[in-house]
Amino acid sequence: MNTPSGKPRKVIPIAPADSQGDIVSLYEAQKKVYPRSITGLFSRWRWAMVFLTQLVFYGLPWLQWGERQMVLFDLGARRFYIFGLVLYPQDFIYLTALLIISALALFLFTAVAGRLWCGFACPQTVYTEIFMWIEHKVEGDRSARLRLDGSPWTVEKIGKKSLKQFLWIAVSLWTGFTFVGFFVPIRQLGGELLALQGSWQIFWVLFYGFATYGNAGFLREQVCKYMCPYARFQSAMFDRDTLIVTYDAGRGEPRGPRTKAVDYKAKGLGDCIDCTLCVQVCPVGIDIRNGLQYECIGCGLCVDACDTVMDKMHYPRGLIRFSTQNGVQHGWSKLQMLKRVLRPRVLIYTGVLVALSVGMLASLMVRTPFKVDVVRDRAALSRIVAGGKLENIYRLQIMNATEAPQHYRIAARGLDGLELVSEPEFQIEAAQSRWVVVQLHIPYGSATEGSHPVQFDVLAVETGKQVSEKSVFLVPRQ
Ligand code: SF4
Ligand code: SF4
Repeated sequence: MNTPSGKPRKVIPIAPADSQGDIVSLYEAQKKVYPRSITGLFSRWRWAMVFLTQLVFYGLPWLQWGERQMVLFDLGARRFYIFGLVLYPQDFIYLTALLIISALALFLFTAVAGRLWCGFACPQTVYTEIFMWIEHKVEGDRSARLRLDGSPWTVEKIGKKSLKQFLWIAVSLWTGFTFVGFFVPIRQLGGELLALQGSWQIFWVLFYGFATYGNAGFLREQVCKYMCPYARFQSAMFDRDTLIVTYDAGRGEPRGPRTKAVDYKAKGLGDCIDCTLCVQVCPVGIDIRNGLQYECIGCGLCVDACDTVMDKMHYPRGLIRFSTQNGVQHGWSKLQMLKRVLRPRVLIYTGVLVALSVGMLASLMVRTPFKVDVVRDRAALSRIVAGGKLENIYRLQIMNATEAPQHYRIAARGLDGLELVSEPEFQIEAAQSRWVVVQLHIPYGSATEGSHPVQFDVLAVETGKQVSEKSVFLVPRQ
């Protein structure tokens, strides 16, 4: 293409060119990972964590606490039920504290034990494990899956792929349904979905189902490698005494194949027989022998794989093992590494975590089991009523955060001759809130014009606890 002046237009490539002049993509093409299944200590721990976390996740919304769901974040009614606790939006501080405590716990855990959370308890890892188990059961282990993907489409291949997709979709939808069941009573949600009612509920079940399917079925290790921010900032929490999965290069190198009968040490070889089993089992498709990599989720499957090989070769276990950088470098024992756990950064994280947790628990224990909000009635700011009195009207919202009906008594103070003329006592049902209209009177002319501070005292009759809220009484110009 030419410019208006007739000269050839310069073409700017959108990606750098290699030495031959071809366009090179800035992005690495995704290589599908076909992890091989392995059994061993860490594999069993991973499955134990899958069962434990999923028992809690799928089971919790079905448990009842009296007449209601045991754990329910009822956004519509603006109430959170957590076992015996009823929290209102005013209790948001507890949620904030809980998030800070969780973040600190993750920092502490990462400083001590590296990425064990990623490898054993992160939902991304857990659901990927479940999806891979289904894939393994339907399509076979690594070599069978590689063969199947490389073969032409036959009835058998279509059948296997369809069955896998069907099972993945079923697990995804059940996961989406369970997740929404933490926000909408799950028994009611089940009935609504069966009757095809509740378009928002249907949308969110499909949305979370789709997210599970996409993340665990297709993206898998890509989420850990490219999307998860935790993988990026974890290095800030690591030091040379953090537990990581390490390959003992001093013992393993130079690597190379050999038979059991050969004296490999005489041939100058290390303990690694270069079987690549540790690479084949890795769910993120890396070679731990290249050193610590940010992609490593610390799942320990390469440890299981290498220990199996070491057993077969009659070499000592632990060529790949959980250790620390200092531990590997200085050849420390487990006890020596344990002694380094209580280092300054760990003590600081622990101190802050304990202080925050104790503070939050103490605050929850002494928390008043009801809330009061006072709103002035803006329709009638101040008026003269029968008997020569000046009236101000307020609306009090009282929230009963207990599991039993409660009686409340309102009193007001702050001005000479102040009288509360509305019904002072009433009942609010368990975990309910109620708006109460309150009229305050003072003798006309007993206070100067302007706004005067007053205070409402609300007493919970059964528990004897009291909450006081401030407001103002307006006296108009005469
Ligand atoms: S390198 Fe080992 S510990 Fe790290 S992700 Fe791969 S298999 Fe898991
Ligand atoms: S499994 Fe062990 S022996 Fe085999 S390649 Fe990996 S480190 Fe070497």
